[in-house]
Amino acid sequence: MSYIQFLGAAGVVTGSKHLINTGDETGRRGIQVLVDCGLFQGQKEWRERNWQDLPVPAREIDAVILTHAHLDHSGWIPRLVQQGFKGPIYATPPTIDLCGILLPDSGHLQEEDAVFHNRFKTSKHDPALPLYTMAAAQQCLGLFQPVQFEETRTLSDELSFRFVHAAHILGSSMVEVVLSSGGNRSRLLFTGDIGRVRDSEISPGRVLHSGPTENEQCDFLVMESTYGNRQHPHDDPKPELAALIRATVQRGGSVVIPAFAVERTQKLLFMLKELMETDQIPRVPVHADSPMAIKAVQIFLKYSEEFSPETKALIEKYGSPLDWTNFYFDQTQEDSKKINESKYPSIIVSSSGMATGGRVLHHLTQRLPDPRNLVLFIGFQAPGTRGYDIKNGATEIKMFGQMVPVRAQVAALEQFSDHADTPELLEWLRTFREAPKQTYLVHGEPAASSALRDSIAQGLSWDVRVAAYKQKVPIA
Ligand SMILES: [Zn+2]
Repeated sequence: MSYIQFLGAAGVVTGSKHLINTGDETGRRGIQVLVDCGLFQGQKEWRERNWQDLPVPAREIDAVILTHAHLDHSGWIPRLVQQGFKGPIYATPPTIDLCGILLPDSGHLQEEDAVFHNRFKTSKHDPALPLYTMAAAQQCLGLFQPVQFEETRTLSDELSFRFVHAAHILGSSMVEVVLSSGGNRSRLLFTGDIGRVRDSEISPGRVLHSGPTENEQCDFLVMESTYGNRQHPHDDPKPELAALIRATVQRGGSVVIPAFAVERTQKLLFMLKELMETDQIPRVPVHADSPMAIKAVQIFLKYSEEFSPETKALIEKYGSPLDWTNFYFDQTQEDSKKINESKYPSIIVSSSGMATGGRVLHHLTQRLPDPRNLVLFIGFQAPGTRGYDIKNGATEIKMFGQMVPVRAQVAALEQFSDHADTPELLEWLRTFREAPKQTYLVHGEPAASSALRDSIAQGLSWDVRVAAYKQKVPIA
């Protein structure tokens, strides 16, 4: 009996890993495929799972199919490879390009973490080791194989798959897997992360050209539920963004925006440019402070055919952010340190987006204690992350082993979200040609997943459940 086993993103928003196994109890060896191979982030209890082995040996997994480049979907790949996985990793070309910068950067951050733990003896392990290194992450890039959207790839007699658009970030996809055995055919749809639906009015910050692919049909749906209990604001974020920046600059402060280097940062850079060109905010220096910043812009521009007409028009009008005066792409640590020496107001966009690591920690350490500054969140903050604590009113926060007081203004603009909210998710599900036999909700905090389960059960009368960690679901 084939089954799906949820090895991550069950009861939590990180660590996405779903195993498809077509073997059976008689010992017949089928094919084993992992859909996504993400890193657990946030609470220690979750992060410790990054160090645990999978229930099946990594060398026995035949392939990884990757929905998109975000680390909570891709960031465990180097670990899987270290443990003996040798198969192909299938992804869309933009996802492969993005993983090419994100995975080595993740390895770099893992190494920095280990150095920190060893210096301050904050780990029970001596010496503390990185989960994987930058070199290991670079090596596994050779296993990636490009698959275009809508192209069917056959991995065995039993299993084929194709990518369909998810409209979440550049290159993001859902994976439709077709299993055939003994004359039975089952279609499984793994949503990965689902972007905003096809309506630019209610998703003013969107970049990609279309919502998730409509009119889907499947027997088993494995669906994300990040915003299963929330509705995004519908208004244009630009006036509020402009007002926040103006007020901060007027009081002599700087704006720190923790943001993942890809997609949302580019969206924000174009918005800042537009606000400056229309004199809605002062022309203060803007720093995209990430070693990946330049490459991320290049990848973003390389795939501009994926974008919405609005984004295309902005690129046409303003060209490449790399050519804009007053916008700085800080590649090196030295560039990054120079920002801190500046006494004048500036806007600093730096990763990681949930303040779990990276250069943004230095900027926050320096600027959180000063009430003139503003810390602005534009992405989801998972519980257990510094970003979550700051956003939710913590008065002090631990950085580099020391408590830093939070006196800066803290604000959040949810309109930038790359995830559909509850009404949008339901709107998408209503386009299905028929109800899946079973729907499992993953990638959500327990409250969000169960609220979405109830909304789907009531609104569509579907058989829908919340997935549990390591739960096995038989596929007929
Ligand atoms: Zn994502």
